[in-house]
Amino acid sequence: MVYRKHNNNNLSLLGFGFLRLPLLSGKPGVPVSGDEIDYEHLQTMVDYSIENGINFFDTSHVYTDGYSEIALGQALKKHDRSKVYISTKMTAGRNRTVDEMSAIFDAQLERLQTDYIDYYLFHNIRNQSWDSFKQSGLWDFLCKKKKEGQVRHIGFSFHGTTDLLREVVEEYDFELVMLQLNYLDWIMQSADEQYKICAEKNIPIAVMEPVRGGALAKWPDDINPPKNEMSPASYAIRWVASLPKVVCVLSGMSNMEHVRDNVKTMQEFKPISDGEQEFIDDVVRKHLLMDNIPCTACGYCVPHCPKKIEISRVFPLYNDNIRSSRWTSLWLISSEDRFNIDCIKCNQCLPHCPQNISIPGELEKMQASLNILQKENRHYFTEYIPHGEVILYGAGVNAALMLKAWKSQGLHAVCFADADNAKHYTRFNETCYEILPPLEAISHYPNACIYIALAQNNFRSAVKYLIEIGFPEERIF
Ligand code: SF4
Ligand code: SF4
Repeated sequence: MVYRKHNNNNLSLLGFGFLRLPLLSGKPGVPVSGDEIDYEHLQTMVDYSIENGINFFDTSHVYTDGYSEIALGQALKKHDRSKVYISTKMTAGRNRTVDEMSAIFDAQLERLQTDYIDYYLFHNIRNQSWDSFKQSGLWDFLCKKKKEGQVRHIGFSFHGTTDLLREVVEEYDFELVMLQLNYLDWIMQSADEQYKICAEKNIPIAVMEPVRGGALAKWPDDINPPKNEMSPASYAIRWVASLPKVVCVLSGMSNMEHVRDNVKTMQEFKPISDGEQEFIDDVVRKHLLMDNIPCTACGYCVPHCPKKIEISRVFPLYNDNIRSSRWTSLWLISSEDRFNIDCIKCNQCLPHCPQNISIPGELEKMQASLNILQKENRHYFTEYIPHGEVILYGAGVNAALMLKAWKSQGLHAVCFADADNAKHYTRFNETCYEILPPLEAISHYPNACIYIALAQNNFRSAVKYLIEIGFPEERIF
């Protein structure tokens, strides 16, 4: 693991963000209640992280309504407290009194099972919250806590405009800033300017959203990926870690695969080379040509929606759809009842979105696309599945949903996966899958098309494998 100095602390360059925790359902996304969190899996992830050198853990009192802090406190209990750094935060809160701040702070210590916080941050300074932060006296409150030894360093996380950032760094002597930085926002959301402002003030930077809520965990479809084993997420993480003022890159890891991939990236960390930068510039150009919704899937908006729209789940699916030409993600949204997008335009979600997304407007556009798709349902199936039989290669969430959707259309659909793939998704396998080894599946269904429902790297090796065993390329999609 690579470490960077912050005062007398040696922070691991890779930090563990406690927002997108593993869910018992196995689905991706931010938990909305404590009952959804897979605590056992999380413990394994935290143990592995610490064994492999990660020492920075970030949470907040509002992540999963406090359950993120509870989960972190439990997971760290068996480890040496003096060897890890905990960062947590407090939101602005309208007219919050000192007594109320004290109550929140004390509850945080209790949930985290600690008597001090290494990095205590103003949570989510943005144009709408800045005045409330100043009026609440949070700075004075935290300075007092620092004198008393309950807080070691004071910082802030930021989602506002560049002009506001200039004002914020002049107002208080912050010791750490958490910025949304990644190679796409560097161009799209003036992250380059924000980095420069903090660098000039000599405020060390912890990075949030290095993979942009998962959007940079896949290459755009029309790009030639590098011929190596490195994942798209590892490029995104290395890219921000290559910036000299960055002391820690937070990754919101939701499963062991994420942890292993990120740990590998940071154990063998090499800054992005000039050749790799040229490739990333190309990736950025492709992203700019796509009409993506800039949602990072943080889930802050979701609890405020009276229609219970799973905004943080449907926007990334919609973006997936834009990125690929296959319309499969949009099909998932339309075929799953739980993905209701029945927006009543009440705007209650809007003040909570750090990306300032016009949520009702985007949902309206999505509904228009769904209307088109639903009209063309049959066309979709006849065009893509000319043989009337489809076998799915994969054992993840998308494969499960596709299987269900295709069966509901009366298509003969089965799923197969290699053992390695299947073992990660046993819960889905038990309920949704007919698991067959690849060769057996192909021999049972010689005329079927194969739909590969795997992540990009695995997708490429699956295509290679099928072609090697002589499966016709025109029936792979
Ligand atoms: S505007 Fe739509 S998405 Fe936003 S809170 Fe209201 S119903 Fe939910
Ligand atoms: S719409 Fe905004 S608040 Fe909601 S999940 Fe996306 S980025 Fe977060």
